[in-house]
Amino acid sequence: MLDQHFMTDIEWLIRVTNIADLNKTDIVLEIGGGTGNLTAYLRKIAKHVYVFEKDKKLIKPLEEKFKNFNNVTILLGDATVAEFPQCTKCVSNLPYTICEPLMWRLTREKFELAVFVVPKKFVEKIAGKTPSRLHLLVQNFFTMEIFEDIPPSAFDPQPHTMSTIIRLRPKAEGNFFLREFLSQYDKKTKNALRWILVQSGMTKKDAAEQITLKIRPTIQEKRISSLSLEEILEIVKNFAKQ
Ligand code: SAH
Repeated sequence: MLDQHFMTDIEWLIRVTNIADLNKTDIVLEIGGGTGNLTAYLRKIAKHVYVFEKDKKLIKPLEEKFKNFNNVTILLGDATVAEFPQCTKCVSNLPYTICEPLMWRLTREKFELAVFVVPKKFVEKIAGKTPSRLHLLVQNFFTMEIFEDIPPSAFDPQPHTMSTIIRLRPKAEGNFFLREFLSQYDKKTKNALRWILVQSGMTKKDAAEQITLKIRPTIQEKRISSLSLEEILEIVKNFAKQ
């Protein structure tokens, strides 16, 4: 699923660019360039814009559109796995299916600020009253501001849901254990825990023993990004104070 809903409303394109508060020194990463509608505004202010696009068919037209501007680099790649170029800001009308994987990924990336257009429902998952994994993740790593809702009519083709603009800034601190643990999202639970315990001074043998004693075997084998909120909280309860 490529989630191709191109933002065509100029006022919203400008609004998103404004919220990113760009200046001439900013190196911007845009995820999902599409037809380059947003890129065209970002590049007017930023020093450089790197654009990831996964759809091979869109690469040539994008390169053609920006061939006269040397502050735009088009990169063919999947933003959930490709290595990020160094950037100060990340600004994107995000492909909806990668919103969650990207939040995990951003726990390890260095950036000053990110502005994303996401489905309104996604914002409810992060900031709503019901506790969720995403809520825990975002709360521990970022401060989030929520801006306007954008109607489907701002896009072509139109999505079925309302979208919302959010802005994230990395937090310098949070729950230390939780941050160490969640940022190893692609590792197995037992391996990440062992690593953290050894870092905190335990021998490998003691760490392995603690994990066996405190964590159920089925949970130990799970990748961190597939743990439920309850499982994460159980692990935090058992290990956070070590
Ligand atoms: N920024 C553009 C396009 C938004 S649509 C605009 O506002 O008009 C989202 C774009 O992300 C599509 O072009 C889609 O092909 C691309 N895309 C989807 N999944 C992706 C991924 N994993 N990595 C990079 N780009 C992706």
